[in-house]
Parts: sequence; C-alpha cells; structure tokens
Amino acid sequence: MDIRESVKESSVRLPFTIRENSLLAKLASYKLHAPRMALTLGKTIHLYNCSAEEFMANERWVNHEMEHLRQFRKYGLLKFIFLYLLESIRKGYYNNRFEVEARSAESGEME
Ligand SMILES: [Zn+2]
Repeated sequence: MDIRESVKESSVRLPFTIRENSLLAKLASYKLHAPRMALTLGKTIHLYNCSAEEFMANERWVNHEMEHLRQFRKYGLLKFIFLYLLESIRKGYYNNRFEVEARSAESGEME
C-alpha cells in the first residue's frame, strides 16, 4: 500500500451497520465492568445500553470503533479475532495494541 492509499484509508469512514441491545455487547460490558458498550465485529457495531443515536453523537467513540472496522478490514475477520484475543491474553484489554491504536484514533487526527 502506498502513502496516498493509506492516507485515504484512514480518513474515510467505512460502511457499517449498528445493532442495538446486542447480547454480545452485553456480555462484553459485564466482562469489562462497563455500564455501556460498543463492540465492533466485522462490519457491525454492537451496542449495549446505548442507542444508535447516542453512539453516533459521540464523535470520539465513533472514531474509536471506526479504527476497529479498519482493523477488521486490514486483517480479515478470523485473523483479526485471533490476533486481538492473543493480544488480550498477553497484555490485557487496555494495553492491547489494537485498543491503543483505536484510542489514538479517537481525536480524529491521524499522525
Ligand atoms: Zn476498542
């Protein structure tokens, strides 16, 4: 991938669908002790205790999940799930490099 493509890639919002009241997001919210949750799986953003409207109004949160969408697209569904779980086992949730990447994307400014 050349530089031009990677710039384009990082500034474009990828297509996605939102699922509210997701069981998957509910389980993740219990596991992470978070009162509300957004969890991206492939091209779907699963929400728990948060409406699609509330989620979309939170730009930093959307940017965070957009980064996960890009990660899924970059590695493919199964490979990314595998790499993500491996990182979580080794480093935990917070220091997982995919979470670090997603947090740095929250401001919407790419380095
Ligand atoms: Zn995340």
